[in-house]
Amino acid sequence: MIKYRAELKCYLCGRTAGELETIVGDSPSAPRFQPMPGMESLIGQSMREARCPLCGGTLFIEDVERVYFLSEQRFAPEKRGRKPRPRPDSVAS
Ligand SMILES: [Zn+2]
Repeated sequence: MIKYRAELKCYLCGRTAGELETIVGDSPSAPRFQPMPGMESLIGQSMREARCPLCGGTLFIEDVERVYFLSEQRFAPEKRGRKPRPRPDSVAS
């Protein structure tokens, strides 16, 4: 499973309007938009017509980031230190 995460930014004022997330893979989903505080009015707008709520500038997508999921399970915390080795003398006794 691969997830793409991108920032939606205003071309004029440079503010980050929100984050877009899309999952690509076995169960693809529609892009999910997570607005920044004060940018909630962008929810429900189409991407092409959406404008910056503060200055009316055009929005563009920046910092597309690919996130890989190897599995849904969490990794067990890595144990620090070396594995205890059986001592030869303790085995003999
Ligand atoms: Zn703006």
